[in-house]
Amino acid sequence: MSAGAAIATRAASRTAEREVAGLRRAVREVEHADRVRVCVDRRELCSFASNDYLGLAQHPEVIAAMKGAADRWGVGSTAAHLLGGHRGPHAQLERMVADWLGYESALLFSTGYLANLGVIAGLMQRGDACVQDKLNHASLIDAVRLAGCELRRYPHGEVAAAARQLQAAGAVPKLLASDGVFSMDGDLAPLPQLAALAREHDALLYVDDAHGFGVLGPDGQGSPEQLGLGADDVPLRMVTLGKAVGCAGALVLGSRVLIDALVQFARPFVYSTALPPAVAAAALAAIAVVRREPQRRAHLQALIARFRAGVAQIGGELMDSSTPIQPLLLGDAAQASALAQALWQQGLYVPAIRPPTVPAGSARLRITLSAAHTAEDVDRLLEALDRARAR
Ligand SMILES: *Cc1c(COP(=O)(O)O)cnc(C)c1O
Repeated sequence: MSAGAAIATRAASRTAEREVAGLRRAVREVEHADRVRVCVDRRELCSFASNDYLGLAQHPEVIAAMKGAADRWGVGSTAAHLLGGHRGPHAQLERMVADWLGYESALLFSTGYLANLGVIAGLMQRGDACVQDKLNHASLIDAVRLAGCELRRYPHGEVAAAARQLQAAGAVPKLLASDGVFSMDGDLAPLPQLAALAREHDALLYVDDAHGFGVLGPDGQGSPEQLGLGADDVPLRMVTLGKAVGCAGALVLGSRVLIDALVQFARPFVYSTALPPAVAAAALAAIAVVRREPQRRAHLQALIARFRAGVAQIGGELMDSSTPIQPLLLGDAAQASALAQALWQQGLYVPAIRPPTVPAGSARLRITLSAAHTAEDVDRLLEALDRARAR
């Protein structure tokens, strides 16, 4: 037996358990992508899987900005932000988004996952309390483990339960953290109520707006603006650049005091190479398109309305979502997989989301719509769903 085999044996048996349960995850290679048209296993598919909600990942202006910045700055940033890796486009991006959303400062991270680890582990300590919605993103939960503070969760969207958790935490420093838009359900957090609770209980409200930024609110600023809130109500916010912005990375926005502390204590910021400057330049160009072209959001909203009306007509069970995330709840994991497979056969890529990503018994198709879709794409999906359900 080779050294260390115990770990490989256990790993293999855990994977086998997933396989037996029909829950094994597998990576699929996309061989070609032209916005929502993708090619997998040489099959042409219309994708309803991406988070590129505004169709910016392959926008010519965004690509040109990236190429131009690569010519000027090269590819790698060569170092962490604190050691010479903080280049012009990084600084410009932080300043632009902070000003646009009305915050004093912003800090760039390589991914949203790392931003959440950095914020919570950088600001919270043992003995503190972090109150979270049960359906918050995995990175917010993982961050609490890293911080060593107490995790107090409340049932999804239940404001009264959140209040009880804040009350029970007592007179320790408290962070109230919530997704703005829940990534597997597509619904919005009750942010006005959470903001009021945070004030009442002297907690710091932190909103992870990975799926709201670029899409929601009158100008695409995000879920707080959609619900009539602003920087005063949400003192600390995270936005990602890999979803509606179509690039990669994440920004944390807050007061100078909080951002300064993150520069000192957010280890994923301190000890990791800065994003390629060309990616920051691409994000700047993409956000310029977000701000200049509200018609992308209008088209997306029209597609969402068309899809929801269509599903209601064929008697499908939709979740309560006004965002581009439109899950179709099935419950049973095998049924979700079979429906995804049937759609695949008809040239539609719609992923089945199964436990443990979602709670047991709540398997679903996670349909995401994009401004890059046409009304005909949505109709094709509706017809295929109708056919698959009728069988
Ligand atoms: C996608 C997502 C993240 C992670 O962002 P990445 O930039 O993809 O690492 C964090 N929070 C939520 C709610 C997300 O949906």
